[in-house]
Amino acid sequence: MSFVSCAEMLAAARSQGISLAEAVLRSDLAESRLTEEKSRADMRALWHVMQATSRDYCPAQRSRSGLSGGDAAKVEQAAAAGLLFGGEYLSAVTAEALKTAECNACMKRIVAAPTAGSCGVLPAVLLPLARAGEATDEEICDALYVAAGFGQVIAARATLAGAEGGCQAEVGAASAMAAAALCSLKGGSAEQCAAAAAMALGNLLGLVCDPVAGLVEVPCIKRNVVGAVNAVACANMALAGVDYAIPCDEVIDAMGRVGAQLSPDLRETGMGGLAATPTGQAIAQRLADEG
Ligand code: SF4
Repeated sequence: MSFVSCAEMLAAARSQGISLAEAVLRSDLAESRLTEEKSRADMRALWHVMQATSRDYCPAQRSRSGLSGGDAAKVEQAAAAGLLFGGEYLSAVTAEALKTAECNACMKRIVAAPTAGSCGVLPAVLLPLARAGEATDEEICDALYVAAGFGQVIAARATLAGAEGGCQAEVGAASAMAAAALCSLKGGSAEQCAAAAAMALGNLLGLVCDPVAGLVEVPCIKRNVVGAVNAVACANMALAGVDYAIPCDEVIDAMGRVGAQLSPDLRETGMGGLAATPTGQAIAQRLADEG
């Protein structure tokens, strides 16, 4: 894919009279030289991995550090008992984001979409829809092309790496991708998808990368939930016709600039933010002592 701006991506769809998903697919084919059949098969395979990660989630499994595991099952149990706010979909989104991110901490297979640290966001918003029969595999794959289009523009204009741009570049980007994907799934226009992505990234602007003990566990796993829930809220706003004052490309540029302004302590070094709290430091010390 070669889009360097959302404006260009939207214009490509408009000028050819095709959907945003189709525009991203065609651009990808032009660059990768894959056949459409192969590209779609690859996308389906990624979707199948997302499904398998959730299906194979093991509530009893813990990460090597002992910091992660079992939380998604707690959310599912509480939801089944009617204890949670937000209805079935929001509970499922929360549980799925935790599941995939916990699986990542437990070294299981995930799809880095766009990164391993933010791998829970996209599947979290899509899996409950597929499970409820509200979206077919083909529709989900189209939504994943839309997500990929926005992710690619973010990578081209700013960064997707926490070490470069902080967590706004990982969970923020994943949230923008998920918001656009959801918006497209509900038949939102290309402009609405861009507004959803802009809102989602704008809402997480400035989010720092501060993994405790340098592990992609605390605060990463719970931030995947925030990225997913933010995506749902932003997709809903965009679908309702709520606009965002700042165009998506400008939000992405702002994210890149904010990332460059972040202290190195707040860019995946595990030295600032939550990693620098007394408890964060104590956890890091304990893990170092345990070897
Ligand atoms: S805090 Fe850092 S390591 Fe964790 S998900 Fe965010 S960017 Fe990735």
